[in-house]
Amino acid sequence: MGTLAQRSRLPALRHNCMIRLRRLQPLKSWNTFGIAETAAYGTVCTRVEQLHSLRRRRELHGLPLLPLGAGSNVLFAEPFPGVVVRVRLRGIRCVAESAHEVLVEAAAGEPWHNFVRTCLTQGWYGLENLALIPGTVGAAPVHNIGAYGVEVAEFLDGVEFWEHESGQFLWLPAAELGLGYRSSRLRTELLGRGILTRVRFRLLRRPRPHAQYPTLAALLERERIRHPTPWDIFHAVCRLRRQRLPDPRRLPNAGSFFRNPIVPARQAQELRQRYPELPLFPAGADSVKIPAAWLIEQCGWKGYRRGDVGVAPQHALVLVNYGGASGREILQLAQEIARSVWERFQIRLEPEVLILPAQAWQP
Ligand code: NAP
Repeated sequence: MGTLAQRSRLPALRHNCMIRLRRLQPLKSWNTFGIAETAAYGTVCTRVEQLHSLRRRRELHGLPLLPLGAGSNVLFAEPFPGVVVRVRLRGIRCVAESAHEVLVEAAAGEPWHNFVRTCLTQGWYGLENLALIPGTVGAAPVHNIGAYGVEVAEFLDGVEFWEHESGQFLWLPAAELGLGYRSSRLRTELLGRGILTRVRFRLLRRPRPHAQYPTLAALLERERIRHPTPWDIFHAVCRLRRQRLPDPRRLPNAGSFFRNPIVPARQAQELRQRYPELPLFPAGADSVKIPAAWLIEQCGWKGYRRGDVGVAPQHALVLVNYGGASGREILQLAQEIARSVWERFQIRLEPEVLILPAQAWQP
């Protein structure tokens, strides 16, 4: 990572802050899918100083490391053989401002939705379309979360990353995170190499509402809101999400299970001839995004249930656990769905959810 990263200018840390390690850590309440797997070790991190003791504990040497925020984008298909670190770091502060912009830092463990609301309350704009996305601030750059026409990448300045091997805190500017459609280097080559501790955002002092996304625009139109404020957008997005997405506290799930596939424009046009109602959205030169939910629904999966696993009746992209489903059962259903989409449309669905272990995914 050396050439990419600068050391962050953090005060020297005290090295005597201990962590509490638990053996055979139960994970059921640590993932929104409610999967009752275990990790070899688990710990909760509430202060950055505690990270140093992770390197000093002999029993952890050589074991894989998994940072977890709210656990809202992960599927444990097997017991996790390493140490799961639940990041509970908190704090939000403005570090600089000008007439137009404000630099805001938030600790990785801040709940995302509360952070969005706090920003609006302070008059820091831009994140309102991302209201009510489950998870923590630390997860936002990892998946480059996005909704209703906005991606967090547009407002990211950089992240602070504690590198496990060196024990150093590194500053990674947003431009070096390889941010793409629901992806980043943090969930590929940097996964397991450390823990994201802080995120810095570049937000707006003057509202620049983004209300063109069709379902959002339609709701605002129905409510006769012609010039929406950021708060109007925030409330409209909350309403839309509550209507369409099952609440993980009532029906455990991890949000969108699959990414929307991006296919060559030629393939999309061929499909359009066979399926005139196929929704298509431009995604860069010669590429087109197709809603995975549409493909899954066409294959008849929406509302499907088998034992304790199923596809949400409200949204074909959301797989749900009706109670005692195992990670393996959810994985098996996801693979059947991906296979049926492939057989019918010759389009490969890729999981948006992080599947552990990664090699368990064999569509
Ligand atoms: P929708 O409006 O039914 O549209 C289905 C899909 O088509 C969306 O996923 C969206 O892709 C794409 N789409 C629609 N209009 C678009 C446009 N004008 N330009 C580009 N792409 C367009 O979507 P929905 O399922 O109700 O979701 C609404 C928003 O919430 C979406 O942005 C979606 O990403 C987000 N969402 C997030 C999660 C999650 O777990 N993180 C779950 C459900 C929905 P995009 O997904 O790329 O926007």
